[in-house]
Amino acid sequence: MIELRSDTFTRPTPAMLQAMFSAPVGDDVFGEDPTVNELEDFAANLFGMEAALYCPSGTMTNQIAIKVHTRPGDEVICESQAHVYIYEGGGIAFNSSAQARTLPGIHGRITAEQVASAVNPEDVHKSHSTLVCLENTSNRGGGTCYNWDEMTAIRRVCDENGMSLHLDGARLFNALVAKSESPGQYGGLFNSISICLSKGLGAPVGSLLLGNKDFILQARRVRKVFGGGMRQAGFMAAAGLYSLKHNVERLQQDHNHALHLSQALQTCSWVAEVFPTETNIVIARVKPAGSAPAIAQQFKDAGVSLIAISPDQIRMVTHLDVSASDIEKTLEIIGQIKR
Ligand SMILES: *Cc1c(COP(=O)(O)O)cnc(C)c1O
Repeated sequence: MIELRSDTFTRPTPAMLQAMFSAPVGDDVFGEDPTVNELEDFAANLFGMEAALYCPSGTMTNQIAIKVHTRPGDEVICESQAHVYIYEGGGIAFNSSAQARTLPGIHGRITAEQVASAVNPEDVHKSHSTLVCLENTSNRGGGTCYNWDEMTAIRRVCDENGMSLHLDGARLFNALVAKSESPGQYGGLFNSISICLSKGLGAPVGSLLLGNKDFILQARRVRKVFGGGMRQAGFMAAAGLYSLKHNVERLQQDHNHALHLSQALQTCSWVAEVFPTETNIVIARVKPAGSAPAIAQQFKDAGVSLIAISPDQIRMVTHLDVSASDIEKTLEIIGQIKR
């Protein structure tokens, strides 16, 4: 089966496993796991930020950030299909007793103008707008990337209104590669950044939260409360460290593969629209309406696993366990789908 459902299906390579087996470990809740400490220092340096925190998942890093940045009753501004809003189990309310102000974006991206007009004035009737969350790349947007200028404009709106700016960078490295940007640029723009090591970077588990020293000190406490303090986590952190050192540049291959799939889908009579493909996610709206599950089943019967993310949309995600020949086979199968 060719696995295009998600870039979370990757399995560690022998070299990554070797790095895991040979990692020195200690108790990370005591701050004594040398491999976790090395990973956190490596990532903080990479982004030019003061500190980092290793966590079990990207949901946890996002939710910890929201918890630290807000007080109960506050409002979090995000795009209407943001992962923090639609895919984290209502965590904004559950964990932080905060509420979301969702803005309709274009392929997952919102503008500084939209953010500015969503900020609440100081008024007893209104909730405090204290946090803006951006997602780069955007998952539901189809792996789209923000323009740098738009993010800096959003930063200005945050500064003018005393708001913090958090980045859900689950696939930030895909954006960095696609846009030729550097982690340091992002470190200087956001108050906090979450990155996933378990998506395109290919580690089996783990995410990092980055911020200044005071923020990470508070985040460490919240991680413990959320049950995310792990003991000899260095075995997993070693995989994360390996992925940051070896699996970033190769993301370009995944992007090339995704573009081939995207171009092939555009020629199909059963495809109404393909979202702009900038990184490793391809989303196509299919016709007739409602046929996405049936099309996904046809692909599955032919040996390609993908997801119907809505009744009208299929999604393919490329990653390091999808080879050039897997892409060739998938292109053939795309041509054979019948509606
Ligand atoms: C995958 C993902 C996350 C984190 O998900 P976990 O499964 O909890 O690691 C966060 N944001 C986006 C956009 C994602 O795609």
